[in-house]
Amino acid sequence: NSVTFSSGNWAPFTNELKSDHAQQLTIITLLREDIRNGKLHYHVQPQVCLRTNKIIGGEVLLRWHNEQLGPVSPAEFVPLAEQAGLIYPLTEMLFEKVFAWASQHQAIIKTTSLSLNISALDLLQANFAQKVNASINTHQLIPEQFTIEITETSMFHNNDIVNNNVEELYAAGFKLSIDDFGIGYSSMLNLVALKTNELKIDQFFVMGLFTQKSNQYLCQNMIRLCQQLNITSVAEGIEDQQTLQTLKDWNCEIGQGYYLYKPMTPDDYLRLLENSICE
Ligand code: C2E
Ligand code: MG
Ligand code: MG
Ligand code: MG
Repeated sequence: NSVTFSSGNWAPFTNELKSDHAQQLTIITLLREDIRNGKLHYHVQPQVCLRTNKIIGGEVLLRWHNEQLGPVSPAEFVPLAEQAGLIYPLTEMLFEKVFAWASQHQAIIKTTSLSLNISALDLLQANFAQKVNASINTHQLIPEQFTIEITETSMFHNNDIVNNNVEELYAAGFKLSIDDFGIGYSSMLNLVALKTNELKIDQFFVMGLFTQKSNQYLCQNMIRLCQQLNITSVAEGIEDQQTLQTLKDWNCEIGQGYYLYKPMTPDDYLRLLENSICE
């Protein structure tokens, strides 16, 4: 099974031809290039108030379709961007795009919220909050409309730069959300210590609600914890009616998942909002 390389005739990009390491380097090189040229885009997944069934906003999710690689999942390229020191320019590019878009379509989205994911590494950049604030001012937006989702890691423990960024974002009026709560490093201790407005129950528990009794107990108690701390509870990964109804019965505030809406293009999201406002 020999492969011949003739000039200008590249062998296809397959696992057989490249080791994982070489493949990762290729992805990083292409990612760097596409970030520089602003070629990544995003989808928005609507979030629904489980009491009123109304769309209250959406989560912005990065999308990358590279000419050579095709579509690459953020679950794959975000960790690579973190490793390669590319996450900060990536976050900056995305925030800039989203703020410009939000500013242009305020007439439609101004009564809704938009959630943006950041990497824990972003919070290690001394001027992160300052830059985000500057960008939001440039676009004449108010921080209160935006929620910043943070996945906790061990670096959250007593890091001055992280704490300053969190304080600064919170003071400016951004809402802060702890993403993927219940797994990894997430802990109640951090929830209280950090300025937190919202907790997103990890989809592992939501999707597995009826496969294990312990997932039900955990979900129900995370919702109760939110009520006691007076913060917003969000369940993501709702894939069926039974899960949706159960979360409603438990008074979970906000739901997100394929059963409600899948992530969609910003244009489709605007159309959806326009139509649901008209209802
Ligand atoms: P996340 O922030 O927890 O985002 C939720 C993920 O769950 C999204 O996958 C979303 O499409 C998916 N999801 C939502 N509802 C359902 C459902 O009902 N069923 C299933 N099976 N999946 C559902 P996506 O877009 O592939 O993103 C994966 C992860 O990549 C995100 O998890 C987040 O950690 C990261 N990511 C995405 N966008 C960004 C970004 O702009 N910045 C950073 N730093 N990370 C991002
Ligand atoms: Mg998220
Ligand atoms: Mg999540
Ligand atoms: Mg996740």
